[in-house]
Amino acid sequence: MWPAFSSAETELRERVRTFLAEALPRRGTIPEDGWIHGFDPDFSRRLGAAGFIGMTWPTAYGGAGRSYVDRAIVTEELLRAGAPTAAHWVGDRQIGPALLAYGTEAQRREIVPRLARGELVFCLGMSEPGAGSDLAALSTRAIDDGDAFVVEGQKVWTSFAHRADYCYLVARTDPEAPRHRGLSELLVDMRLPGIRVRPLVDMTGEHHFNEVFFEQVRVPKRWLIGERDRGWFQIAAQLDYERAGMERLLSYAPLLADLETHIRVTGRGSEPLIRQRLARFHGEILVGRQLVYRIAWQLSRGVTPTADTALTKLYGSELEQRIARFAGEVLGPYAVLAPGSEAPLGGRVARAIVNAPALTIRGGTVEILRNIVAQRGLGLPRA
Ligand SMILES: Cc1cc2nc3c(=O)[nH]c(=O)nc-3n(C[C@H](O)[C@H](O)[C@H](O)COP(=O)(O)OP(=O)(O)OC[C@H]3O[C@@H](n4cnc5c(N)ncnc54)[C@H](O)[C@@H]3O)c2cc1C
Repeated sequence: MWPAFSSAETELRERVRTFLAEALPRRGTIPEDGWIHGFDPDFSRRLGAAGFIGMTWPTAYGGAGRSYVDRAIVTEELLRAGAPTAAHWVGDRQIGPALLAYGTEAQRREIVPRLARGELVFCLGMSEPGAGSDLAALSTRAIDDGDAFVVEGQKVWTSFAHRADYCYLVARTDPEAPRHRGLSELLVDMRLPGIRVRPLVDMTGEHHFNEVFFEQVRVPKRWLIGERDRGWFQIAAQLDYERAGMERLLSYAPLLADLETHIRVTGRGSEPLIRQRLARFHGEILVGRQLVYRIAWQLSRGVTPTADTALTKLYGSELEQRIARFAGEVLGPYAVLAPGSEAPLGGRVARAIVNAPALTIRGGTVEILRNIVAQRGLGLPRA
């Protein structure tokens, strides 16, 4: 059955498992969505020291010089273990690759090795109050002023902005140009004067994303990433990396595993409906896994399959929502008991259900992804 892993890939998987058994003897209380909610800089540094961050990056920049399939193996194991990977996830997934593709040599030398060591936290400054799905509508300005760009504007839903060392910011450098053409990407030090971060608490009661205000923030020009006014074309590649990973399929894997144990222990594994639904989820996860490994395999060959990444995220995030719903059905009224209570599975089901709407919004909504599959995958006309 495909994917069939080579002995080197199997050996890598075993190494990650051994590392995790030692570094994470016990899972966190809420292991779901550990790449967004599990913020643990010490764990990220240990992972970096073990060589599991920057798997695909050249060794000259501190990476492991391996394939995207190898990276998918590492992330699969981290997600299944419920590891707290939020402190380095964005940097590993898309900032390192973006700098290697578009950054100057000085930017690469300064940032990429530190990312590989798990030392830097990044946030993504894309969405704005008037620009989410329609990112090209963004209005944050980066005004040319001598040796710097002066940034003015507001971002929203910025995950980890309150903890980030840097923001990967998309801003408008040419307000006169057609809207897709006047955008640029900047790397902004979050300690610069004029940056204000205001917390947003989500429906689970947790704080991971924020509003970020930029008032007359002077960003030295050496932090322009790639070509000025060509940011849109760079973002497109970033979004492929953002959408195609295991985290779009396995964020709720720890919940499903523990739910299965609960079903066995409580003797409910003999109920036909429960058996069938569980078996179906296993089949669906196998399919999703094939989709993710297929994209990793394509990325390793230099192909960026935009329609496939959209399809993979769409498939995985809807599946994760069904898993949360199923967990709620299995537990019945106990599902509404909150984390920390005496509820089965420590109240994780209530949290998973409340968190679930975010899964099909973050990184691109299902409607937008279906549009991409229709237009770029199937060649249908724009609606
Ligand atoms: C947990 C989480 C973390 C996030 N982290 C970050 C982050 O770190 N950085 C960042 O920049 N952003 C982040 N976001 C923001 C996220 O990318 C946006 O919420 C998302 O792109 C949707 O944008 P919006 O919220 O403005 O919704 P809108 O774009 O206003 O969309 C509203 C609704 O209209 C639909 N819609 C819009 N346009 C179309 C269309 N053309 N065709 C069909 N339907 C359409 C959408 O599908 C949606 O249902 C995060 C979001 C979440 C939930």
